[in-house]
Amino acid sequence: MSERKMVHKITHVTVRDVRFPTSLEQHGSDAMHTDPDYSTAYVVVHTDSGLQGFGFTFTLGKGTEIVVCAVRALAGLVVGKSLQEIVSDFRGFYRLLSSDGQMRWLGPEKGVIHLATAAVLNAVWDLWARAEGKPLWKLLVDMDPKQIVSCVDFRYITDALTEEEALDILVKAQEEDQMLKEGYPAYTTSCAWIGYSDEQLKQLCTDALKSGWTKFKVKVGADLEDDTRRCRLIRQMIGPDKTLMIDANQRWDVSEAIGWVSSLAEFKPLWIEEPTCPDDILGHAAISKVRGKFGFPADSCVEDLFFHFIVVILHPFVVMLLPVCPHAGGVGLCELVQHLILFDYICVSGSLSNRMCEYVDHLHEHFTSPVVIHDAHYMPPKDPGYSCEMLESSVKKHQYPEGDVWKWACVKFEINHGEHGDKKACLHLTHLYFERLDVVDVDVSVSQSVNEVARLTELKKKKVR
Ligand SMILES: [Mg+2]
Repeated sequence: MSERKMVHKITHVTVRDVRFPTSLEQHGSDAMHTDPDYSTAYVVVHTDSGLQGFGFTFTLGKGTEIVVCAVRALAGLVVGKSLQEIVSDFRGFYRLLSSDGQMRWLGPEKGVIHLATAAVLNAVWDLWARAEGKPLWKLLVDMDPKQIVSCVDFRYITDALTEEEALDILVKAQEEDQMLKEGYPAYTTSCAWIGYSDEQLKQLCTDALKSGWTKFKVKVGADLEDDTRRCRLIRQMIGPDKTLMIDANQRWDVSEAIGWVSSLAEFKPLWIEEPTCPDDILGHAAISKVRGKFGFPADSCVEDLFFHFIVVILHPFVVMLLPVCPHAGGVGLCELVQHLILFDYICVSGSLSNRMCEYVDHLHEHFTSPVVIHDAHYMPPKDPGYSCEMLESSVKKHQYPEGDVWKWACVKFEINHGEHGDKKACLHLTHLYFERLDVVDVDVSVSQSVNEVARLTELKKKKVR
């Protein structure tokens, strides 16, 4: 890396609360998160050279403002540093963020502070890759293994993996050509959110089969009768040879999980994901004992700190024995994770056996370099960076609560669907959105009918009161 390119002193960090009203259509709904509004704490790291790094962390709507607050608290640790300084001791930089003597108390490396740290780290990795003019996966693939290992904080993991062991694993396992030609295999979750109707599920599944998808995940866990019907429907549609997975998103107690999973075993799911509390290791072991023909429960990690992921894929037992099927989805997570799976294939596993990555087909249009899927495979991104940058117009429109989408979501929904849809449902959603808005400024003139004007005026008064 040339010295000229690397002088990028961080002058300030901005962070915005960006929310998409996905709950209106039940996208992303599961047994525990029934009405998520896919959101991000969206971070931009600004430098004196004009180069910017973009990063974010994924949230479900309410509470994003808390993550935004945490990013602001961390920003002071980052401002004033140059990219050169950071990358020459990335491990030290990671510790600076994760081990601040006072803020560490808020985690450590868990919850809101973990999310905020991830957003900042993602932005810095994006900045680094942009400074090098490479997509992040390529930056990693071209990097000396010693340098990769030097970026990882091994403090709590040496019982599982030492620096020397990691170095041994990091060889160039494969050439890039196969990935560039064929891409990395994916499975889809976007056919079977728990809030989707059977008709919608059927339609989406038909479309997905036509587009070449062969692996499908179904959200389960709220109602056994519904789950049985939905799993039967999807198994019938995809046939016996394609892959089905189920995901309960932590809904069950251990004994409940065992009973439920046994009931759904006839649909031959490859795995049951997040059957119970993510921290209940003994519970997972108990469920594993009876799950018989199932493969493996996935972990519960939603938001990867970049190097936690690398540590997972570097772990020798993982490399040799266990399938690695990273989570993605939400808003922007597919954009992020594609870089990591490419790094895994090219530098670690060298094999696609037991490897596939989740894909969810929502909100990609808001990114400047959206993920490219071809024939159910992730195609390697080519633009420099970590694919984190969102269109400024999208950010402005979805910023909470002042963005246009949040001001007008309810009104627009009513106008578009009110005449044809379920009036009661529309009214409910309208109320929901008014309750969520901190600021309500309804321009009743956009409404088209006298009744609507009257009702919205009434709602506005109510809210003002
Ligand atoms: Mg899941």
